[in-house]
Amino acid sequence: MARNGRHVSYWIDSTLPSTYPALSQDVTVDVAIVGAGLAGVITAKLLKQAGKTVALIEADRIGQGTSGHTTAKVSALQQLIYADLIAHHGTEKARLYGESNQAAIARLAELIAAENIDCNFERKANYTFATDQAGLEQIKDELEAAQGLGLPATFVESVDLPLAVIGAIMLPDQAQFHPRKFMLAIAATLPGNGSHVFEQTRVDTVKTTALAA
Ligand SMILES: Cc1cc2nc3c(=O)[nH]c(=O)nc-3n(C[C@H](O)[C@H](O)[C@H](O)COP(=O)(O)OP(=O)(O)OC[C@H]3O[C@@H](n4cnc5c(N)ncnc54)[C@H](O)[C@@H]3O)c2cc1C
Repeated sequence: MARNGRHVSYWIDSTLPSTYPALSQDVTVDVAIVGAGLAGVITAKLLKQAGKTVALIEADRIGQGTSGHTTAKVSALQQLIYADLIAHHGTEKARLYGESNQAAIARLAELIAAENIDCNFERKANYTFATDQAGLEQIKDELEAAQGLGLPATFVESVDLPLAVIGAIMLPDQAQFHPRKFMLAIAATLPGNGSHVFEQTRVDTVKTTALAA
């Protein structure tokens, strides 16, 4: 969306600013996580659930990097990926990729339900569509690849879009959500019992030391 002639992210614009403190003194935790995008926020959550103390450290504000600017699809169908994966990495790795993407959607749904997070999470079918004959050939190759890997993909002749679609792959039971609502809600569960969230704190150096055996 645009505001005052500038493009702004709807996800950021429709959520309140976060106000976690900057790191101002030494803290000791089991794991420091650098960056509070989707990867960092979820990693911090899973580590805390596993009994670790965590410090989630963000240079700017939570979810305002790439994760605040996505199209918010949560899907194992990503344009035309499976035919390429099979060609470049082989069937077994492509199958693992598809399975892990499907498992990640289920894990995300579980986390949202368990924490009762209001982030507009909705199960939806996902489509990769073609509007010309060359695109349709690619769609058919991708469909064959996805089905061969065990994904429940099917071919549909039309989709509910104001475009001249001539065919599409449909993968059911995928999802969409409001990514920044999700990240803010998960971050809010982190502080306490030895864990922290810090914003406006840029990590400059990471020193590694050998762990005791
Ligand atoms: C236009 C677009 C649309 C997309 N649509 C989708 C989609 O629909 N579905 C999908 O699954 N994926 C989508 N993606 C990809 C997805 O958005 C990214 O893979 C994901 O958001 C990356 O998350 P991240 O946590 O790794 O990175 P980021 O969200 O970029 O988070 C990294 C964070 O680290 C912080 N940081 C960096 N350096 C430091 C430092 N030194 N100290 C402290 N903090 C630091 C940054 O400020 C930032 O907040 C899309 C990407 C783009 C660009």
